[in-house]
Amino acid sequence: MVKFPEAEARKFRNIFICKKCSTKIRANNMKIIQEKIKCRRCNSHKFRSVRKK
Ligand SMILES: [Zn+2]
Repeated sequence: MVKFPEAEARKFRNIFICKKCSTKIRANNMKIIQEKIKCRRCNSHKFRSVRKK
């Protein structure tokens, strides 16, 4: 199976997952770092990126 790095980057870029409730949030990377984004379900500021090993 062939991988498409560009497609994956488009798919996962700017999407984060709440560490508490696993809600997906689409947000700017800088805003996540600056904690300007709140989870809409649990109001947490803790997010991780979608791709995780
Ligand atoms: Zn949450």
